[in-house]
Amino acid sequence: MSDRRTAEGRSAAGTYWRWELSGYDMTTLLWLQTAACGGDSLALLSATSPSVEQLLSGRGVELLWHPSFSRQPPRYRDELIARIVKGEQRLGILCIEGSIVTAPHGTGLHDACNGRAKMEIVRELAGHADAVVAMGTCAAFGGMPAAQPNPGSCIGLQFDHGKPGGLVGADWRSRRGLPVINVPGCPAHPHAIAQTLAWLSAGLPLSLDELNRPASHFSRIVHQGCTRNEYHEYNIEDTCSGDRACLFFNLGCQGPLTRGICNSDLWNGASSKTRVGVPCFGCTSPDFPREGDLLRTEKLSEVPLHLPLGVERARYMAYKNLARAAAPERVRDKKMDP
Ligand code: SF4
Repeated sequence: MSDRRTAEGRSAAGTYWRWELSGYDMTTLLWLQTAACGGDSLALLSATSPSVEQLLSGRGVELLWHPSFSRQPPRYRDELIARIVKGEQRLGILCIEGSIVTAPHGTGLHDACNGRAKMEIVRELAGHADAVVAMGTCAAFGGMPAAQPNPGSCIGLQFDHGKPGGLVGADWRSRRGLPVINVPGCPAHPHAIAQTLAWLSAGLPLSLDELNRPASHFSRIVHQGCTRNEYHEYNIEDTCSGDRACLFFNLGCQGPLTRGICNSDLWNGASSKTRVGVPCFGCTSPDFPREGDLLRTEKLSEVPLHLPLGVERARYMAYKNLARAAAPERVRDKKMDP
């Protein structure tokens, strides 16, 4: 690997940056958990392109410490953090998995490590990292712990739900000039995690959307690639679970509103929620989990309150009624397996 690499990118908001890695071959990675269930770490284990082994052996990533994958005890982690803060250990990528607890009263002490609030540890380490990655919706936007009534006063690293700010503030940039890179999902998709880390370590160009998510993994919507799509087109909708048609109109599916690769890069190379009859819950979105019943579509006079991205309400029902009338028998009678 060359000793000088450059990455550059542009966010949807117009931010442009150039990221230059020089003088070292391996990108060091420190992974810490805050208010997390560990789901993103588990998801990473099922990545195949690249796999964890490939990431660590062939993609230039040196894992400094991970709470589940490392054999060294927590004392080693504490010494490592001290070395990073003193400038004795270079930190390439800081991955944070989990929501940032700020309770009680903004101290963060409801989630502490060795008597110190984790939010302070994360904030300090972020200042020493070339890049900071928020792994999962909790770290990116607050996620499950930040759902109402949010007893831990949880926030994301650089967003509070969809509002810029979070722990480090909207204008914060890493040592290499990058905002926090958000890889949301509950958990994040294994390949969104592994490929983002691989790209960062290789210094490849990086484009982010308006929520600082890699455009490569968050420009498609979950609806794309769903095997129930033809039912959706002809307005043939399920009313109870276990059937074959579309889950959007009645059963709460957020696929047409949610950015993600779940149906275009299948989980474990095999399946997705909607393929097995579970509606998409919109877990990569900043407002996840939405309030109310996740298995029911909220409606405004019989029309879903939230329509597919970019669709005009005035024309929507006219289109739907026409589509239903045109439905071929195989679709109308739900003869096709999803
Ligand atoms: S089930 Fe959801 S993702 Fe699949 S076609 Fe219907 S709306 Fe789209």
